[in-house]
Amino acid sequence: MFNNEQKVSKRLIQEAREKYAIEDWGAGYFSISSKGHIECQPEGPGGQAIDLPSAISQAKSCGIQLPMIIRFPQIISNQMKRLTQAFQESIWEFSYKGKHRAVFPFKVNQRREFIENIIKCGRSLDYGLEVGSKTEFIAALSYKLADNALIVCNGFKDNDFIKLGFHAAAMKKNIVMVVEGPDELKKILEMAKEYPQCPDIGARVKLYSRGSGKWAKSSGEASKFGLTTPELLECLKLIKGAKLTEKFSMLHFHIGSQITQMNRVKNAIKEASRVYAKVVQIGFAIRLLNIGGGIGVDYDGSKTSFQSSANYSLQEFTNGIVYEISEVCKNEDVKCPDIVTESGRIIAAYHSVVVTDIREIQSVETWNHQSNDHQKFAENAKFHNNISELEYILNNINGKNYVEFYHDATDYYDEIFTLFNLGFIDLEQRAFVEKIFMTICKAALKFSHQEKHPLEEFVELQQRMVTKYLANFSIFQSIPDSWAINQLFPVLPLSHHEKIPTHKASIVDITCDSDGCLEKFIDRRDVKTVLNLHDPENRPYYLGFFLVGAYQ
Ligand code: PLP
Repeated sequence: MFNNEQKVSKRLIQEAREKYAIEDWGAGYFSISSKGHIECQPEGPGGQAIDLPSAISQAKSCGIQLPMIIRFPQIISNQMKRLTQAFQESIWEFSYKGKHRAVFPFKVNQRREFIENIIKCGRSLDYGLEVGSKTEFIAALSYKLADNALIVCNGFKDNDFIKLGFHAAAMKKNIVMVVEGPDELKKILEMAKEYPQCPDIGARVKLYSRGSGKWAKSSGEASKFGLTTPELLECLKLIKGAKLTEKFSMLHFHIGSQITQMNRVKNAIKEASRVYAKVVQIGFAIRLLNIGGGIGVDYDGSKTSFQSSANYSLQEFTNGIVYEISEVCKNEDVKCPDIVTESGRIIAAYHSVVVTDIREIQSVETWNHQSNDHQKFAENAKFHNNISELEYILNNINGKNYVEFYHDATDYYDEIFTLFNLGFIDLEQRAFVEKIFMTICKAALKFSHQEKHPLEEFVELQQRMVTKYLANFSIFQSIPDSWAINQLFPVLPLSHHEKIPTHKASIVDITCDSDGCLEKFIDRRDVKTVLNLHDPENRPYYLGFFLVGAYQ
């Protein structure tokens, strides 16, 4: 039997699950327990659950201080398996003749501990690495990968980078040097004359099809990377001239990270598959079609084409890729290539959580209004009649007149400030008026919240009236994309979900920079401008920033 308090807690926890949409963005890894705590199931649904507030207490007792990053290596391996399995299912479903081969793009998370996990979990999956610079290449070569694993070299390559590729090929590593321009290819072909072992060569093509979302400009005719069609033909001619046709093994494209719309993926793959087929038909037996990265993470759980979401599932993505390639290959009567993916975000995002504690709660000060306050107003009204007007508004504001009364209060408040600037009002009186005005604003907001479509000025007022939770971390350091490109991440308290949230809040960090604040939060239907947070009530109150394992 539940007593009343337990019933209320249960209802509040259920409301929190819905409000924070945790099941929608959590990918089965995160949930709210019956205690109102955030739990992580690193092995996925049904696996062992870790209570995050307890894990933090334990870490603190070992001397680890907040803010901290909690990392779940099991999630990395689970995501790698999910990607691999999704491709296997699609390959089976469409009786596709080629294989899927994955590489992890180094730049998405360069931490040594992270890459070591990729290597360890990836060994049984023949997982390889993608590198975009000489330093990443040197680091990649230091790892023992599975015999079949690829190392794909993208990005600008100088002579040293290329030379390293030749040495690595001599060491029997499966290197593919993806050329971004004919000049780069000429350097490779020149070097091939000197070295006995030439690495495989790939070409990144510039597609006409564009991605979607924030990184759409990585693709299309104006994109920074890739070969135009005349350049591709020139490269093919150069390769043939150098008698290295059999070394040309990969066609590559990447239409940007976090692709939000499935139809953009399909358009790109149709075009790339045609390019592949045409190149094969003119005598190049390419074996690998590298589709780059781009699988979107549904940060807000809305499953829409919004820039922090994606309107497709992983299985839909792999089905689309495999089906479209197989259709084009059938149509053009060419062999199906192995499909290479360079997915980073979808593998790395879920595995880490930034946790911080709250140092201070800064609420807007209001007047604790009592019925016998008239005396105080009368005293202050001696200095200006507007104070009596504010008292009248405070006592009579209601759901019908709140817009008009709020406007009047604003006018009276402005006039009182003019008097202060002229020296007629002292600081005590100014403080009194500020508190009264804020109380009126709060009342007006309460009435505006009851409207289905609140007026814009009240949405702005809400923004000014929010309680600020001072969080012990730096937004610039821990979640830079939130500041730099307005990336939304799920943010929520790790406990207290059995309680009623007491504050509409924004989060400010402890850096001395006004950009160090969060005022946009995920929501299934919209972007929220406030987060409902609790009174800590003398218990530790931790905030978690989720899905921060990629690019942060
Ligand atoms: N491959 C290339 C060439 C990239 O530039 C990127 C990142 O934008 C990726 C792969 C990884 O993309 P994502 O993290 O979206 O999977």
